[in-house]
Amino acid sequence: MTEYANPSAELRARVALEKHRFHNTHSLGQNFLLSESLLEHLLDEAALAPEDCVLEIGPGAGLMTALMARRCKRVLAVELDNSLAPVLNDVLAGIDNVRIHYGDILKTDVVALAREAFGGGAYRVVANLPYYITADILLKLTTLSEPPESIAIMVQREAAERIMSAQGSKQWCALAAELQYYGQPRVLAEVPAEAFDPPPHVTSCFIRIDRHATPIVAPKDEQLYRRLIHAAFAMRRKTLANNLKAAFGLDQQQAKDVLAAAGVDERVRGEALSLEELCRVADAIFEIVR
Ligand code: SAM
Repeated sequence: MTEYANPSAELRARVALEKHRFHNTHSLGQNFLLSESLLEHLLDEAALAPEDCVLEIGPGAGLMTALMARRCKRVLAVELDNSLAPVLNDVLAGIDNVRIHYGDILKTDVVALAREAFGGGAYRVVANLPYYITADILLKLTTLSEPPESIAIMVQREAAERIMSAQGSKQWCALAAELQYYGQPRVLAEVPAEAFDPPPHVTSCFIRIDRHATPIVAPKDEQLYRRLIHAAFAMRRKTLANNLKAAFGLDQQQAKDVLAAAGVDERVRGEALSLEELCRVADAIFEIVR
């Protein structure tokens, strides 16, 4: 049999893009990964198992989708651009454990869709997405009522550094705190711009965040805790006490009392606190506002 009679997934994707004269849309962040060997390496790092159900976001030409379908039980892919449909139909023809849903992931009811596709079981997320929605999508996924077990996602190197940052460092931010509350992030691979078609202007990192098996802190009110995380980093030049007054409508004395009850210095800045300390502050606010 010739290579063309049984083409590799990479060749199928390249031929389909050519055949349907697909033009990448810059505003949708369509920088595709079309190297099967690179994608196989990334998927090895993502540690997907045969019993896994995977939600892929932004399948593009569907090459990674096809490779994941070989490794996993089921793949549900959400793609915004339905002009990719003819390409995806060609690339995924004959693969019966993949379903494509066309829509904007940020407007999609992910829990309902995942339940429908995976029967309510656990699922993982894998995504190579435009970098301008990295933070929105990560915050959406990690705060779902039924969140994924892990999220493997391509991000800009600078974003990876922020997400991995430690409490008290310059990079430590609300996004890092939120994501580290959800799980343990790690960098799986650095991916150079030339690996993408077309190449972006930045270096990328493929990261994975594994959801904590048991929460590392247990706030009395999770929503309030999240509000506090965002308030703590809202105005970096202000003390946490001042940010608390603005965010929770506390007066000076209440803000002081909260910090005293939490055992933190009343002059502390929010970004100096660990997840554990932020949790104690949130619990102290909870006692006042409930
Ligand atoms: N995963 C493919 C790959 O690695 O070649 C494509 C990656 S490309 C960087 C990003 C993909 O996400 C594009 O196919 C784009 O159309 C899609 N996309 C962009 N915004 C989206 C959104 N809000 N919801 C779902 N898909 C989106």
